Amino acid sequence: MLREHNVVIKDPRRVDLRFASCYPNLYRSAMSSLGFHIIYDFLNSREDVYCERAIYPYSKTLESSTPLKDFDIVGFSLQYEQDYFHVLEMLQEGGVPIKKSERTGEDPLVIAGGPCASSNPSPMTDFIDIFLVGEAEAMLDQFIDTYLKLDDPQEELDAFLDIKGVYVPDNPVEMVVVEDMRDAWHPIKQVIPETDDKDFIPAFGRAFLLGVSRGCTRGCRFCMAGCMYRPRREVPLKDLLEIAEKCRQATGLDRVALIGAAVSDYSKIEELCMELYERGFQITTPSLRIESISDELLTTLKESGLKTITIAPESTWRIRKVTNKPITDDDIITIMNKAFNYDLNVKLYFMLGLPTETREDLDDLLKLIKNLEAIPKRRSALRISINPFIPKPHTPFQWEDFDFKEMKNDVKFLKSELKRSNLKIDSPRMALIQYVLSMGTADLGSTILKSLKSKVPIREWEKLTPKWDMEDELPWDNIHVGVRKDYLKEEYLKALKGGLTPWCETFGCYDCGACDKSTKSC
Ligand code: SF4
Ligand code: SF4
Repeated sequence: MLREHNVVIKDPRRVDLRFASCYPNLYRSAMSSLGFHIIYDFLNSREDVYCERAIYPYSKTLESSTPLKDFDIVGFSLQYEQDYFHVLEMLQEGGVPIKKSERTGEDPLVIAGGPCASSNPSPMTDFIDIFLVGEAEAMLDQFIDTYLKLDDPQEELDAFLDIKGVYVPDNPVEMVVVEDMRDAWHPIKQVIPETDDKDFIPAFGRAFLLGVSRGCTRGCRFCMAGCMYRPRREVPLKDLLEIAEKCRQATGLDRVALIGAAVSDYSKIEELCMELYERGFQITTPSLRIESISDELLTTLKESGLKTITIAPESTWRIRKVTNKPITDDDIITIMNKAFNYDLNVKLYFMLGLPTETREDLDDLLKLIKNLEAIPKRRSALRISINPFIPKPHTPFQWEDFDFKEMKNDVKFLKSELKRSNLKIDSPRMALIQYVLSMGTADLGSTILKSLKSKVPIREWEKLTPKWDMEDELPWDNIHVGVRKDYLKEEYLKALKGGLTPWCETFGCYDCGACDKSTKSC
Protein backbone atom coordinates (compact mmCIF):
# COMPACT_ATOMS: atom_id res chain seq x y z
CA MET A 1 0.00 0.00 0.00
CA LEU A 2 1.19 3.52 -0.78
CA ARG A 3 0.81 6.39 1.65
CA GLU A 4 2.14 9.83 0.85
CA HIS A 5 3.06 12.71 3.14
CA ASN A 6 2.89 16.42 2.20
CA VAL A 7 0.32 15.96 -0.57
CA VAL A 8 -1.32 19.29 -1.43
CA ILE A 9 -5.09 19.31 -1.23
CA LYS A 10 -6.99 22.36 -2.49
CA ASP A 11 -10.59 23.01 -3.36
CA PRO A 12 -10.64 23.01 -7.20
CA ARG A 13 -13.57 25.44 -7.15
CA ARG A 14 -11.43 28.04 -5.44
CA VAL A 15 -8.64 28.21 -8.01
CA ASP A 16 -8.53 29.77 -11.48
CA LEU A 17 -6.51 27.02 -13.09
CA ARG A 18 -6.11 23.28 -12.67
CA PHE A 19 -2.78 21.88 -13.81
CA ALA A 20 -2.06 18.16 -14.18
CA SER A 21 1.67 17.55 -13.84
CA CYS A 22 2.19 14.24 -15.65
CA TYR A 23 5.14 11.91 -15.40
CA PRO A 24 5.09 9.33 -18.19
CA ASN A 25 7.27 6.87 -16.30
CA LEU A 26 6.96 4.88 -13.10
CA TYR A 27 6.22 6.32 -9.68
CA ARG A 28 9.66 5.58 -8.24
CA SER A 29 11.28 7.47 -11.08
CA ALA A 30 8.83 10.40 -10.81
CA MET A 31 9.48 10.82 -7.11
CA SER A 32 13.24 10.72 -7.69
CA SER A 33 13.00 13.65 -10.09
CA LEU A 34 13.79 17.01 -8.51
CA GLY A 35 12.20 18.75 -11.52
CA PHE A 36 8.89 16.98 -10.87
CA HIS A 37 8.94 18.09 -7.21
CA ILE A 38 9.83 21.66 -8.25
CA ILE A 39 6.85 21.99 -10.61
CA TYR A 40 4.42 20.65 -7.99
CA ASP A 41 5.67 22.90 -5.22
CA PHE A 42 6.16 25.95 -7.45
CA LEU A 43 2.69 25.85 -8.99
CA ASN A 44 0.94 25.07 -5.72
CA SER A 45 2.64 28.07 -4.13
CA ARG A 46 0.27 30.15 -6.30
CA GLU A 47 -3.14 30.52 -4.70
CA ASP A 48 -4.84 30.68 -8.10
CA VAL A 49 -3.45 27.32 -9.31
CA TYR A 50 -4.00 23.74 -8.16
CA CYS A 51 -1.34 21.37 -9.45
CA GLU A 52 -2.01 17.63 -9.13
CA ARG A 53 0.17 14.67 -10.21
CA ALA A 54 -0.64 11.95 -12.71
CA ILE A 55 1.97 9.22 -12.97
CA TYR A 56 2.14 6.44 -15.56
CA PRO A 57 0.44 3.96 -15.97
CA TYR A 58 -2.41 5.98 -14.43
CA SER A 59 -4.18 8.81 -16.19
CA LYS A 60 -6.02 10.11 -13.17
CA THR A 61 -4.38 12.28 -10.56
CA LEU A 62 -3.13 10.94 -7.26
CA GLU A 63 -4.64 13.88 -5.37
CA SER A 64 -8.28 13.63 -6.46
CA SER A 65 -8.55 10.82 -9.05
CA THR A 66 -9.51 13.41 -11.65
CA PRO A 67 -9.01 12.33 -15.29
CA LEU A 68 -6.68 14.45 -17.41
CA LYS A 69 -9.53 15.74 -19.58
CA ASP A 70 -10.86 17.80 -16.65
CA PHE A 71 -7.75 19.94 -16.32
CA ASP A 72 -7.00 23.30 -17.93
CA ILE A 73 -3.38 22.41 -18.62
CA VAL A 74 -1.86 18.96 -18.89
CA GLY A 75 1.95 19.18 -18.63
CA PHE A 76 4.31 16.27 -19.32
CA SER A 77 7.83 15.96 -18.04
CA LEU A 78 9.85 14.33 -20.84
CA GLN A 79 12.97 12.80 -19.32
CA TYR A 80 13.41 9.81 -21.65
CA GLU A 81 12.47 9.35 -25.30
CA GLN A 82 10.88 5.93 -24.63
CA ASP A 83 8.30 7.73 -22.50
CA TYR A 84 6.74 9.27 -25.64
CA PHE A 85 4.59 6.15 -26.00
CA HIS A 86 3.38 6.54 -22.42
CA VAL A 87 2.42 10.16 -23.09
CA LEU A 88 0.03 8.99 -25.79
CA GLU A 89 -1.38 6.26 -23.56
CA MET A 90 -1.97 8.70 -20.72
CA LEU A 91 -3.71 11.20 -23.01
CA GLN A 92 -5.93 8.50 -24.48
CA GLU A 93 -6.84 6.95 -21.12
CA GLY A 94 -7.32 10.41 -19.62
CA GLY A 95 -9.92 11.32 -22.26
CA VAL A 96 -7.80 13.92 -24.08
CA PRO A 97 -7.66 13.67 -27.91
CA ILE A 98 -4.14 12.47 -28.68
CA LYS A 99 -3.49 14.59 -31.75
CA LYS A 100 -3.40 18.31 -31.17
CA SER A 101 -5.23 18.85 -34.47
CA GLU A 102 -8.22 17.00 -32.98
CA ARG A 103 -8.41 19.03 -29.79
CA THR A 104 -10.83 21.93 -29.32
CA GLY A 105 -11.20 24.75 -26.81
CA GLU A 106 -13.00 22.26 -24.54
CA ASP A 107 -9.85 20.17 -24.16
CA PRO A 108 -6.86 20.94 -21.97
CA LEU A 109 -3.82 22.70 -23.37
CA VAL A 110 -1.11 20.03 -23.58
CA ILE A 111 2.42 21.18 -22.83
CA ALA A 112 5.77 19.42 -22.26
CA GLY A 113 9.09 20.27 -20.64
CA GLY A 114 12.22 18.44 -19.52
CA PRO A 115 15.44 17.47 -21.34
CA CYS A 116 13.77 15.70 -24.30
CA ALA A 117 11.26 18.52 -24.87
CA SER A 118 14.15 20.99 -24.73
CA SER A 119 16.57 19.15 -27.00
CA ASN A 120 14.49 17.94 -29.94
CA PRO A 121 10.73 18.35 -29.62
CA SER A 122 10.12 17.54 -33.31
CA PRO A 123 8.94 13.90 -32.95
CA MET A 124 6.24 14.98 -30.47
CA THR A 125 4.91 18.03 -32.33
CA ASP A 126 1.74 16.20 -33.49
CA PHE A 127 0.71 15.70 -29.86
CA ILE A 128 2.01 18.62 -27.80
CA ASP A 129 0.71 22.18 -28.20
CA ILE A 130 3.59 24.00 -26.52
CA PHE A 131 7.07 22.99 -25.34
CA LEU A 132 8.93 24.68 -22.51
CA VAL A 133 12.62 24.78 -23.43
CA GLY A 134 14.88 25.03 -20.40
CA GLU A 135 14.28 25.21 -16.67
CA ALA A 136 10.57 25.40 -15.93
CA GLU A 137 10.53 27.74 -12.96
CA ALA A 138 12.19 30.42 -15.12
CA MET A 139 9.09 30.66 -17.32
CA LEU A 140 6.12 28.99 -15.58
CA ASP A 141 4.79 32.07 -13.78
CA GLN A 142 4.66 34.11 -16.97
CA PHE A 143 3.19 31.13 -18.80
CA ILE A 144 0.33 30.73 -16.30
CA ASP A 145 -0.34 34.49 -16.22
CA THR A 146 -0.59 34.55 -20.03
CA TYR A 147 -2.89 31.52 -20.06
CA LEU A 148 -5.23 33.14 -17.55
CA LYS A 149 -5.54 36.28 -19.68
CA LEU A 150 -6.62 34.41 -22.84
CA ASP A 151 -10.18 33.50 -23.81
CA ASP A 152 -9.22 30.48 -25.90
CA PRO A 153 -5.56 29.53 -25.31
CA GLN A 154 -5.75 26.66 -27.86
CA GLU A 155 -6.50 29.15 -30.59
CA GLU A 156 -4.12 31.81 -29.36
CA LEU A 157 -0.84 29.94 -29.06
CA ASP A 158 1.09 32.84 -30.55
CA ALA A 159 0.31 34.84 -27.40
CA PHE A 160 2.80 32.61 -25.57
CA LEU A 161 5.62 33.36 -27.99
CA ASP A 162 6.71 36.47 -26.08
CA ILE A 163 7.78 34.27 -23.20
CA LYS A 164 11.44 33.35 -23.42
CA GLY A 165 11.80 29.55 -23.57
CA VAL A 166 8.36 28.83 -25.02
CA TYR A 167 8.48 26.81 -28.23
CA VAL A 168 5.49 26.74 -30.51
CA PRO A 169 6.53 24.71 -33.57
CA ASP A 170 8.27 25.96 -35.76
CA ASN A 171 9.17 29.31 -34.25
CA PRO A 172 12.81 29.63 -33.19
CA VAL A 173 13.29 29.56 -29.44
CA GLU A 174 16.03 30.41 -26.98
CA MET A 175 16.44 28.11 -24.04
CA VAL A 176 16.04 29.73 -20.64
CA VAL A 177 17.81 28.76 -17.42
CA VAL A 178 17.85 30.15 -13.90
CA GLU A 179 20.85 32.48 -13.99
CA ASP A 180 21.39 32.93 -10.29
CA MET A 181 20.75 29.82 -8.22
CA ARG A 182 19.57 32.02 -5.34
CA ASP A 183 16.50 32.51 -7.56
CA ALA A 184 16.02 28.79 -8.18
CA TRP A 185 13.02 27.06 -6.65
CA HIS A 186 13.76 24.68 -3.81
CA PRO A 187 10.78 22.52 -2.86
CA ILE A 188 10.66 22.29 0.92
CA LYS A 189 7.48 20.33 1.64
CA GLN A 190 8.39 17.47 -0.67
CA VAL A 191 5.94 14.62 -1.14
CA ILE A 192 7.39 11.58 0.61
CA PRO A 193 6.00 8.12 -0.08
CA GLU A 194 5.69 5.56 2.67
CA THR A 195 5.55 2.04 1.34
CA ASP A 196 7.18 -1.38 1.49
CA ASP A 197 6.52 -2.02 -2.17
CA LYS A 198 9.90 -1.70 -3.88
CA ASP A 199 8.24 -0.58 -7.12
CA PHE A 200 7.21 2.60 -5.33
CA ILE A 201 10.39 3.34 -3.39
CA PRO A 202 12.30 6.22 -5.04
CA ALA A 203 15.86 5.70 -6.29
CA PHE A 204 17.39 7.37 -3.22
CA GLY A 205 15.12 5.59 -0.73
CA ARG A 206 13.42 7.58 2.01
CA ALA A 207 15.27 10.84 1.39
CA PHE A 208 14.45 14.39 0.41
CA LEU A 209 16.16 15.93 -2.62
CA LEU A 210 18.53 18.89 -2.41
CA GLY A 211 19.44 20.68 -5.66
CA VAL A 212 23.10 21.58 -5.15
CA SER A 213 24.00 22.84 -8.62
CA ARG A 214 22.83 22.80 -12.22
CA GLY A 215 24.73 22.46 -15.47
CA CYS A 216 28.18 21.05 -16.04
CA THR A 217 31.05 22.46 -18.07
CA ARG A 218 33.36 19.44 -18.06
CA GLY A 219 32.66 18.99 -21.76
CA CYS A 220 32.13 15.22 -22.14
CA ARG A 221 31.27 15.05 -25.81
CA PHE A 222 28.44 12.51 -25.49
CA CYS A 223 26.62 14.35 -22.71
CA MET A 224 23.50 16.25 -23.70
CA ALA A 225 22.88 17.68 -20.24
CA GLY A 226 26.49 18.84 -20.09
CA CYS A 227 26.11 20.72 -23.38
CA MET A 228 22.60 22.11 -22.95
CA TYR A 229 22.46 23.26 -19.36
CA ARG A 230 25.74 25.19 -19.31
CA PRO A 231 27.03 27.21 -17.51
CA ARG A 232 27.45 25.47 -14.18
CA ARG A 233 25.51 27.27 -11.48
CA GLU A 234 25.79 26.65 -7.75
CA VAL A 235 23.55 27.30 -4.77
CA PRO A 236 25.52 29.10 -2.02
CA LEU A 237 26.57 26.77 0.80
CA LYS A 238 24.76 28.77 3.47
CA ASP A 239 21.49 28.56 1.48
CA LEU A 240 21.88 24.80 1.02
CA LEU A 241 22.25 24.23 4.74
CA GLU A 242 19.20 26.36 5.48
CA ILE A 243 17.15 24.54 2.81
CA ALA A 244 18.26 21.15 4.16
CA GLU A 245 17.14 22.10 7.70
CA LYS A 246 13.76 23.31 6.42
CA CYS A 247 13.30 20.11 4.38
CA ARG A 248 14.14 17.99 7.40
CA GLN A 249 11.50 19.80 9.39
CA ALA A 250 8.89 19.52 6.61
CA THR A 251 9.52 15.86 5.77
CA GLY A 252 10.69 14.44 9.09
CA LEU A 253 13.63 12.83 7.25
CA ASP A 254 17.35 13.06 8.01
CA ARG A 255 18.43 11.50 4.76
CA VAL A 256 19.32 13.92 1.98
CA ALA A 257 20.03 13.15 -1.69
CA LEU A 258 22.37 15.70 -3.26
CA ILE A 259 21.23 16.42 -6.82
CA GLY A 260 23.14 18.10 -9.64
CA ALA A 261 24.68 17.31 -13.03
CA ALA A 262 28.10 16.85 -11.42
CA VAL A 263 27.56 17.01 -7.66
CA SER A 264 31.18 16.34 -6.73
CA ASP A 265 32.26 19.40 -8.77
CA TYR A 266 30.41 21.64 -6.31
CA SER A 267 33.16 24.06 -5.22
CA LYS A 268 32.58 23.45 -1.50
CA ILE A 269 31.53 19.81 -1.67
CA GLU A 270 33.68 18.67 1.26
CA GLU A 271 32.45 21.51 3.46
CA LEU A 272 28.86 20.83 2.45
CA CYS A 273 29.06 17.12 3.25
CA MET A 274 30.92 17.72 6.49
CA GLU A 275 28.38 20.33 7.67
CA LEU A 276 25.48 18.07 6.76
CA TYR A 277 27.12 15.15 8.53
CA GLU A 278 27.79 17.20 11.67
CA ARG A 279 24.16 18.25 11.71
CA GLY A 280 23.12 14.61 11.73
CA PHE A 281 22.12 14.16 8.10
CA GLN A 282 22.71 10.99 6.16
CA ILE A 283 23.92 11.73 2.64
CA THR A 284 23.36 9.98 -0.64
CA THR A 285 24.19 11.15 -4.11
CA PRO A 286 24.11 9.91 -7.72
CA SER A 287 27.21 9.55 -9.86
CA LEU A 288 30.47 11.18 -8.70
CA ARG A 289 33.09 12.61 -11.04
CA ILE A 290 36.31 10.66 -10.41
CA GLU A 291 38.65 13.70 -10.42
CA SER A 292 36.66 15.41 -7.70
CA ILE A 293 36.44 12.54 -5.20
CA SER A 294 38.87 13.33 -2.40
CA ASP A 295 39.73 11.15 0.60
CA GLU A 296 37.96 13.65 2.83
CA LEU A 297 34.80 13.44 0.72
CA LEU A 298 34.81 9.64 0.74
CA THR A 299 35.31 9.54 4.51
CA THR A 300 32.45 11.96 5.16
CA LEU A 301 30.13 10.22 2.73
CA LYS A 302 30.87 6.84 4.27
CA GLU A 303 30.41 8.12 7.82
CA SER A 304 27.15 9.79 6.88
CA GLY A 305 25.68 6.51 5.69
CA LEU A 306 26.51 6.27 1.97
CA LYS A 307 26.67 2.61 0.91
CA THR A 308 27.47 2.77 -2.80
CA ILE A 309 29.40 5.17 -5.00
CA THR A 310 28.65 5.35 -8.70
CA ILE A 311 31.37 6.30 -11.14
CA ALA A 312 31.42 6.27 -14.93
CA PRO A 313 34.70 5.23 -16.58
CA GLU A 314 32.71 4.99 -19.86
CA SER A 315 35.33 3.06 -21.84
CA THR A 316 39.04 2.50 -22.38
CA TRP A 317 41.66 5.25 -22.04
CA ARG A 318 41.84 5.75 -25.83
CA ILE A 319 38.08 6.14 -26.18
CA ARG A 320 37.88 8.25 -23.04
CA LYS A 321 40.11 10.80 -24.78
CA VAL A 322 37.74 10.79 -27.78
CA THR A 323 34.89 11.59 -25.39
CA ASN A 324 36.94 14.27 -23.61
CA LYS A 325 36.86 12.46 -20.30
CA PRO A 326 40.58 11.98 -19.67
CA ILE A 327 40.55 9.96 -16.48
CA THR A 328 43.19 7.27 -16.47
CA ASP A 329 42.77 3.60 -15.61
CA ASP A 330 44.96 4.26 -12.57
CA ASP A 331 42.54 6.99 -11.39
CA ILE A 332 39.68 4.50 -11.60
CA ILE A 333 41.57 1.73 -9.83
CA THR A 334 42.71 4.09 -7.06
CA ILE A 335 39.17 5.30 -6.37
CA MET A 336 37.81 1.77 -6.43
CA ASN A 337 40.45 0.56 -3.98
CA LYS A 338 39.72 3.44 -1.65
CA ALA A 339 35.98 2.81 -1.85
CA PHE A 340 36.39 -0.90 -1.09
CA ASN A 341 38.74 -0.08 1.79
CA TYR A 342 35.92 2.05 3.21
CA ASP A 343 33.64 -0.95 2.71
CA LEU A 344 31.60 0.92 0.12
CA ASN A 345 30.02 -0.78 -2.88
CA VAL A 346 30.92 0.52 -6.33
CA LYS A 347 28.75 0.83 -9.37
CA LEU A 348 30.49 1.35 -12.71
CA TYR A 349 28.94 2.70 -15.90
CA PHE A 350 30.35 1.93 -19.34
CA MET A 351 29.22 2.75 -22.85
CA LEU A 352 29.48 0.64 -25.93
CA GLY A 353 29.89 1.83 -29.51
CA LEU A 354 31.40 5.25 -28.79
CA PRO A 355 32.81 7.11 -31.82
CA THR A 356 35.92 5.59 -33.44
CA GLU A 357 35.54 2.37 -31.40
CA THR A 358 37.00 -0.65 -33.19
CA ARG A 359 37.04 -4.36 -32.47
CA GLU A 360 40.45 -3.86 -30.84
CA ASP A 361 38.95 -1.26 -28.49
CA LEU A 362 36.20 -3.69 -27.59
CA ASP A 363 38.82 -6.31 -26.68
CA ASP A 364 40.60 -3.68 -24.57
CA LEU A 365 37.33 -2.74 -22.90
CA LEU A 366 36.73 -6.36 -22.02
CA LYS A 367 40.23 -6.63 -20.56
CA LEU A 368 39.70 -3.47 -18.52
CA ILE A 369 36.37 -4.68 -17.13
CA LYS A 370 37.91 -8.04 -16.21
CA ASN A 371 40.78 -6.25 -14.41
CA LEU A 372 38.35 -4.06 -12.49
CA GLU A 373 36.20 -7.07 -11.64
CA ALA A 374 39.18 -8.64 -9.89
CA ILE A 375 39.63 -5.72 -7.45
CA PRO A 376 36.93 -6.27 -4.80
CA LYS A 377 37.29 -9.11 -2.31
CA ARG A 378 33.53 -9.44 -2.25
CA ARG A 379 32.18 -10.01 -5.78
CA SER A 380 28.82 -8.50 -4.86
CA ALA A 381 30.52 -5.21 -3.91
CA LEU A 382 30.85 -4.35 -7.59
CA ARG A 383 28.01 -3.78 -10.01
CA ILE A 384 28.57 -3.03 -13.68
CA SER A 385 26.22 -1.46 -16.15
CA ILE A 386 26.95 -1.24 -19.88
CA ASN A 387 24.77 0.94 -22.10
CA PRO A 388 24.81 1.28 -25.87
CA PHE A 389 26.02 4.77 -26.78
CA ILE A 390 23.22 6.85 -28.27
CA PRO A 391 24.20 10.07 -30.10
CA LYS A 392 22.21 13.04 -28.80
CA PRO A 393 21.19 16.43 -30.19
CA HIS A 394 23.22 19.53 -29.23
CA THR A 395 26.36 17.47 -28.56
CA PRO A 396 29.54 17.15 -30.65
CA PHE A 397 28.50 13.54 -31.36
CA GLN A 398 25.18 14.53 -32.97
CA TRP A 399 26.72 13.70 -36.35
CA GLU A 400 27.50 10.12 -35.36
CA ASP A 401 25.43 7.18 -36.66
CA PHE A 402 23.91 4.35 -34.71
CA ASP A 403 24.88 1.01 -36.22
CA PHE A 404 22.25 -1.42 -34.94
CA LYS A 405 23.80 -4.59 -36.38
CA GLU A 406 27.22 -3.82 -35.01
CA MET A 407 25.72 -2.93 -31.63
CA LYS A 408 23.89 -6.26 -31.48
CA ASN A 409 27.12 -8.13 -32.26
CA ASP A 410 29.09 -6.18 -29.66
CA VAL A 411 26.47 -6.81 -26.97
CA LYS A 412 26.41 -10.50 -27.83
CA PHE A 413 30.19 -10.66 -27.60
CA LEU A 414 30.35 -8.93 -24.20
CA LYS A 415 27.53 -11.03 -22.81
CA SER A 416 29.30 -14.21 -23.80
CA GLU A 417 32.58 -13.05 -22.23
CA LEU A 418 31.27 -11.47 -19.04
CA LYS A 419 29.28 -13.93 -17.06
CA ARG A 420 28.53 -12.25 -13.76
CA SER A 421 25.22 -11.86 -12.04
CA ASN A 422 25.51 -8.19 -11.19
CA LEU A 423 26.15 -7.08 -14.75
CA LYS A 424 23.50 -5.22 -16.69
CA ILE A 425 23.72 -4.61 -20.43
CA ASP A 426 20.95 -2.52 -21.99
CA SER A 427 19.15 -3.85 -25.03
CA PRO A 428 20.34 -2.66 -28.47
CA ARG A 429 16.70 -2.72 -29.62
CA MET A 430 15.63 -0.13 -27.06
CA ALA A 431 18.74 1.88 -27.85
CA LEU A 432 17.86 1.96 -31.55
CA ILE A 433 14.34 3.21 -30.79
CA GLN A 434 15.76 5.80 -28.43
CA TYR A 435 18.22 6.94 -31.09
CA VAL A 436 15.48 7.33 -33.70
CA LEU A 437 13.27 9.27 -31.28
CA SER A 438 16.01 11.53 -30.01
CA MET A 439 17.47 12.40 -33.43
CA GLY A 440 14.39 12.21 -35.66
CA THR A 441 12.02 14.65 -37.28
CA ALA A 442 8.32 15.49 -36.95
CA ASP A 443 7.60 12.68 -39.46
CA LEU A 444 7.97 10.22 -36.58
CA GLY A 445 4.57 11.27 -35.21
CA SER A 446 2.76 8.65 -37.32
CA THR A 447 5.05 5.84 -36.08
CA ILE A 448 4.68 6.90 -32.44
CA LEU A 449 0.89 6.96 -32.92
CA LYS A 450 0.96 3.58 -34.64
CA SER A 451 2.82 2.05 -31.72
CA LEU A 452 -0.17 2.79 -29.53
CA LYS A 453 -2.21 0.16 -31.38
CA SER A 454 0.44 -2.45 -32.08
CA LYS A 455 4.14 -3.00 -31.58
CA VAL A 456 6.13 -1.41 -34.41
CA PRO A 457 8.57 -4.07 -35.75
CA ILE A 458 12.24 -3.30 -35.18
CA ARG A 459 12.86 -3.44 -38.94
CA GLU A 460 10.57 -0.45 -39.31
CA TRP A 461 12.50 1.50 -36.69
CA GLU A 462 15.71 0.57 -38.48
CA LYS A 463 14.38 2.10 -41.68
CA LEU A 464 13.66 5.32 -39.79
CA THR A 465 17.22 5.65 -38.51
CA PRO A 466 18.29 9.21 -39.28
CA LYS A 467 21.73 10.04 -40.61
CA TRP A 468 22.91 13.61 -40.27
CA ASP A 469 25.91 15.07 -42.08
CA MET A 470 27.78 18.13 -40.92
CA GLU A 471 26.30 20.27 -43.69
CA ASP A 472 22.70 19.24 -42.93
CA GLU A 473 20.13 21.42 -41.32
CA LEU A 474 19.16 19.55 -38.16
CA PRO A 475 15.60 19.22 -36.82
CA TRP A 476 16.68 21.03 -33.64
CA ASP A 477 18.54 23.90 -35.30
CA ASN A 478 15.81 26.35 -34.28
CA ILE A 479 16.21 25.41 -30.61
CA HIS A 480 19.02 27.68 -29.41
CA VAL A 481 20.49 26.20 -26.27
CA GLY A 482 23.51 28.48 -26.09
CA VAL A 483 26.40 26.32 -27.32
CA ARG A 484 27.17 27.26 -30.94
CA LYS A 485 26.83 24.66 -33.70
CA ASP A 486 30.27 25.52 -35.09
CA TYR A 487 31.77 24.92 -31.63
CA LEU A 488 30.17 21.47 -31.62
CA LYS A 489 31.64 20.84 -35.08
CA GLU A 490 35.13 21.82 -33.90
CA GLU A 491 34.74 19.52 -30.91
CA TYR A 492 33.56 16.64 -33.11
CA LEU A 493 36.53 16.94 -35.48
CA LYS A 494 38.89 17.19 -32.52
CA ALA A 495 37.27 14.09 -30.99
CA LEU A 496 37.91 12.02 -34.10
CA LYS A 497 41.63 12.73 -33.63
CA GLY A 498 41.48 11.98 -29.89
CA GLY A 499 42.17 15.64 -29.05
CA LEU A 500 41.28 16.99 -25.62
CA THR A 501 39.54 20.19 -24.57
CA PRO A 502 40.51 20.71 -20.93
CA TRP A 503 37.90 21.94 -18.45
CA CYS A 504 37.09 25.58 -19.23
CA GLU A 505 36.69 26.39 -15.53
CA THR A 506 40.38 25.77 -14.91
CA PHE A 507 41.91 26.14 -18.37
CA GLY A 508 40.04 29.20 -19.69
CA CYS A 509 37.00 29.98 -21.80
CA TYR A 510 36.62 28.54 -25.32
CA ASP A 511 33.76 30.90 -26.12
CA CYS A 512 31.38 27.99 -26.71
CA GLY A 513 28.45 30.39 -26.60
CA ALA A 514 26.78 29.02 -23.46
CA CYS A 515 27.67 31.87 -21.16
CA ASP A 516 26.03 34.36 -23.50
CA LYS A 517 22.61 33.00 -22.55
CA SER A 518 23.33 33.90 -18.95
CA THR A 519 24.17 37.38 -17.74
CA LYS A 520 26.35 35.74 -15.15
CA SER A 521 29.88 35.13 -16.34
CA CYS A 522 31.29 31.69 -15.72
S1 SF4 B 1 30.91 15.29 -16.03
FE1 SF4 B 1 28.93 14.23 -16.17
S2 SF4 B 1 27.40 15.86 -16.36
FE2 SF4 B 1 29.40 16.76 -16.82
S3 SF4 B 1 29.59 16.67 -19.03
FE3 SF4 B 1 30.56 14.82 -18.20
S4 SF4 B 1 28.96 13.26 -18.19
FE4 SF4 B 1 27.95 15.25 -18.42
S1 SF4 C 1 31.31 30.18 -22.64
FE1 SF4 C 1 33.37 29.65 -21.96
S2 SF4 C 1 33.29 29.51 -19.74
FE2 SF4 C 1 31.18 29.45 -20.50
S3 SF4 C 1 30.72 27.26 -20.66
FE3 SF4 C 1 31.47 27.93 -22.66
S4 SF4 C 1 33.67 27.53 -22.65
FE4 SF4 C 1 32.95 27.44 -20.52
